[in-house]
Amino acid sequence: MRSVFVVACLLITLASSRSLSADTLVYASTLINGRQEEPLHDVTLIVSEKKIVDIVAGFQKPADGDRVVDLRKYTVVPGLMDMHTHLMSQHSKDSYTEKFFMEESDYALRSTVYARATLMAGFTTVRELGDNGINSVSLRKAINEGWIIGPRIFTAGKSLATTGGHADPTNGLKGDYRRDADPVDGVINGPDDARKAVRQRYKDGADLIKLTATGGVLSLAANGHNPQFTEEELKAIVETARDYGMTIAVHAHGTEGMKRAVLAGVDSIEHGTFMTDEVMELMKERGTWWVPTNMAGEWVAMKAEEPGYFPEIVRPKAAAIGPAIRDTFRRANKAGVKIAFGTDSGVSVHGENAHEFELMVEGGMSPMKAIQTATLNASQLLRVEDRLGTLEKGKIADIVAVNGNPLEDISVMKQVVFVMKDGTVFREP
Ligand SMILES: [Zn+2]
Repeated sequence: MRSVFVVACLLITLASSRSLSADTLVYASTLINGRQEEPLHDVTLIVSEKKIVDIVAGFQKPADGDRVVDLRKYTVVPGLMDMHTHLMSQHSKDSYTEKFFMEESDYALRSTVYARATLMAGFTTVRELGDNGINSVSLRKAINEGWIIGPRIFTAGKSLATTGGHADPTNGLKGDYRRDADPVDGVINGPDDARKAVRQRYKDGADLIKLTATGGVLSLAANGHNPQFTEEELKAIVETARDYGMTIAVHAHGTEGMKRAVLAGVDSIEHGTFMTDEVMELMKERGTWWVPTNMAGEWVAMKAEEPGYFPEIVRPKAAAIGPAIRDTFRRANKAGVKIAFGTDSGVSVHGENAHEFELMVEGGMSPMKAIQTATLNASQLLRVEDRLGTLEKGKIADIVAVNGNPLEDISVMKQVVFVMKDGTVFREP
């Protein structure tokens, strides 16, 4: 009787451990792991629940209950990470007027479409750099709860600006709409406002801070270059953000604003269009990341040629700033500035993010280095290298496959056939 009981217990234990350890075995004949300079060949990634528990040589035989995902016809890469997106919008001729017609709920619902397109393009993580309020916080929640599908989001919430600056939401409006925006809206004047605005983002649920250190292309204001924060304001933002464990991403085109931000100790410069050799040296010295957004440059330059697409105050800025990013990319890449991948999608079309790889390679970067900007480098900028960014034992199972060899033809990064995020498959060949 006793032995029957023991056997029964043993069977129950085996049964439960079996169901707990049912793994997904991902076969890869070419694996770019994000860290190594050369791909690995003929390996099995063993995924258990949300993690890669091991990577073994050869194609491991499945045990009962294991699932096999055979990606041997493709190239396997880590889940891609875009460090500059705007999932609340996608630019069109109507962008300047839609805020008068769109409810916050309209923005939120529309963003679910953009989030899905981004994930399906192989981007399992994004850094969301500025929306009109806290919609991206809600989007992050909806994705984390499994209500909708989309990439893992790290969001800045509303970008910080100074009065009349690039992210002042009331720029260019007529008198009765052109109210004074305040630190709750992300608009600051002086260090006290700066601290309040950072704390407000924390209260809103943002993961990091975005600020617009110089003018920008698409805002309804004349100057795209000028510095828009004082050194004291930048210092107050950086110090306060650090208190809350937040990183700081800085939109900048002109040199002076960029330089002030780097010296204040921010984490990344976005766009960086008119980056001089001096700023490059400063960034290397300080370890500041650059997120080039070549795609945004290309897109605004193209649209500037279309008569009537942009308001006339925007058009000359778009024509001048757009092409300049490409030249800066060539120089900064050669100079060895640390580069993380970012597209500014929302300016360009969501889901086309991988076009940035092509522009990086055209700009002189090797395909392997370009892939690393969207994997290892991005995870370092986000400070999540312990769990994301590479395909290594112990990392979260964000796995993507593309149709072809990107080391020979980088354009195949646009042909994503398989997407796994957090161990769940969202797209299959
Ligand atoms: Zn942007």
